[in-house]
Amino acid sequence: MLPRPALIAALLLTQLAAFVPKAQRRQTVKIKSESDGRLLAVKAREAELRAQLAKVQREKAEVLSTKRLKIGIVGFGRFGQFLSTKFASYDHEIYGLSLSDRATEATKCGAKGCGRLDSNDDVEAFFERKPDVVVLACSIVSFEETLTRLRPSLQKYPETLFVDVLSVKEHAREALLKHLPSETGVLCTHPMFGPDSAKKGWENLAFVYDKVRVSDASSDACERFLSLFESAGCRMVEMSCTQHDVYAANSQFLTHLVGRMLGSVGDLRSTPIDTKGFASILQVVETTCDDSFDLFYGLYRYNQHSKSTLLCLRKAMADLELRLISSELDGTAGEDARGTLDYLDVRERVWNENGAEWSGRSS
Ligand code: NAP
Repeated sequence: MLPRPALIAALLLTQLAAFVPKAQRRQTVKIKSESDGRLLAVKAREAELRAQLAKVQREKAEVLSTKRLKIGIVGFGRFGQFLSTKFASYDHEIYGLSLSDRATEATKCGAKGCGRLDSNDDVEAFFERKPDVVVLACSIVSFEETLTRLRPSLQKYPETLFVDVLSVKEHAREALLKHLPSETGVLCTHPMFGPDSAKKGWENLAFVYDKVRVSDASSDACERFLSLFESAGCRMVEMSCTQHDVYAANSQFLTHLVGRMLGSVGDLRSTPIDTKGFASILQVVETTCDDSFDLFYGLYRYNQHSKSTLLCLRKAMADLELRLISSELDGTAGEDARGTLDYLDVRERVWNENGAEWSGRSS
C-alpha cells in the first residue's frame, strides 16, 4: 500500500494523462527519445572526428614545418613582397629576383636579398642557392618573357619545383609546360587574395591549386609549400586551371571591372548615412584600384572568358538604361527622355557597325 501523498500524486497523473489522446502520447514520447538520442550521438561523434582531424592537421603542419624551405621569388613587386613577408615570418629562407632594383624592399620583407632579372650573373646566382621552390610572381603580361630570361638556368636545376601565382591559370600552365624541362615539377596556384583583401590575415581565404606535374622528386617541396597556406588558415581548393578560369572570369574579372568602373565615377566616398550596400561598394573599389593596370589587363587578355564577361556587363547596363527610359516615357517625363533615346540610337548604330567585330574577337 502506497503512502497517502504518493497515492494522490499517482491519481492526478492518471487523470491528466487521460486528456492527451493515446496516439499523440505515444508519438511525442517516440520522437523525443529517438531523434534526440540519435542527434546527440551523431553530434558527439562529429565533435570527436573534428577534434581528431584538427590534431592530425596540427601534427602534419608540425612535421612539414621542421624543414626550413629555401624559396626563390621571381618578381618582387607588390604581390612578391606580400608573399615574402609571410614566408619569412615562418622562418623560411627567401631570395628574390626582379627586373627593377628591389634590394631595399627585399630586406624590409625579410628576404636575404634580391638580384636583377636582366643580369645573367644574378640569375645564375639565384639558382646556385638551390631553392626548393621557385615562386613566379611577375606580372601576367611578362610571364613568358620572364621564363625566357630564366631559360639558360632551367636545364641545370630540373629538380626545383616551380610554382606560379598568376591570377589566370590556363595561360600559366601552358607557358610552364612549354618552357620548363619535362622532369621539372609544376604547381599552378592562385591565392584568391592580396595585400588589400588579406590585411586582417589569411584565415578562411581561398587558395586554389592544381598539381599539374608533381614528380616524386618534387612532391616533398610541393607538400611543404602547400602547407604554408594550409597552416595560415587558407581554404585549400584543388581545381583544374581550366575550371579556375571559367569561375574567375565571372567572379574576379567582374569584380575588378566593376571596381575600376566605380573607381572612375569620381568622388565616391563614405558619407554619414552609408548603407551596408554602399560600404561594400567602397570596399570593392578599395580592393581593386590599388592593383596595377598590368594586372587588370592580364585578367582581360589572358583569360579567354573575360571578354564575354565584359560584353555581358555592357549589354546588361544598356538593357537597364532602356528599361528606365521606357518607364519614363510611359510617365510624364517622356519629352525629357527623348534626348537620351537619341543618344542610345547613335550608340546602337555604332554597336551594329562594330558589334560583329567585337563578338568575333571575344570568341
Ligand atoms: P603586377 O603588376 O601584376 O606584377 C608586378 C611584377 O611584375 C613586378 O615584380 C614587376 O617587376 C614584374 N614585371 C613587370 N613587367 C615585367 C617584365 N617586362 N619582365 C619581368 N618582370 C616584370 O602586380 P602584382 O600585384 O605584384 O602581381 C604579381 C603577380 O601576382 C601577378 O601574376 C598577379 O596575377 C598575381 N597575383 C596578384 C594578386 C594581388 O592581389 N595583387 C593576388 C593573387 C595573385 P619589378 O618589381 O622588378 O618591376
